[in-house]
Amino acid sequence: MLTATCHCGAVRVEVPRRPRSLTNCNCSICRRYGTLWAYYKASEVRVIGARGATNTYSWGDKSLRFVRCSTCGCITHWERINPTEDSRMGVNARNFEPDSLGSIRIRLLDGASTWKYLD
Ligand SMILES: [Zn+2]
Repeated sequence: MLTATCHCGAVRVEVPRRPRSLTNCNCSICRRYGTLWAYYKASEVRVIGARGATNTYSWGDKSLRFVRCSTCGCITHWERINPTEDSRMGVNARNFEPDSLGSIRIRLLDGASTWKYLD
């Protein structure tokens, strides 16, 4: 198991294993956040924080929401607003300790236009 934490430690995200790859997306929101996404089934991920520890933001068709720590502002993950049983979610791999991740391939996703990987 690996745990990602925001800067102040108020929010923790537990995942079952190291990701196989990380995604660097150039869409209008991800490029601003500077996030690197590790994808998991939502049912495999545990988000731990007190009530009110997070704020959310969603835009466009409002199918996803981006979640951040309400104290330090770090983006912790995105999740589906109306999840189904096999929904995925994106965990911000910037919040893992670099040593616990090791070296992992980073893939470039053209979320700004084609929604294809550029590698
Ligand atoms: Zn925080």
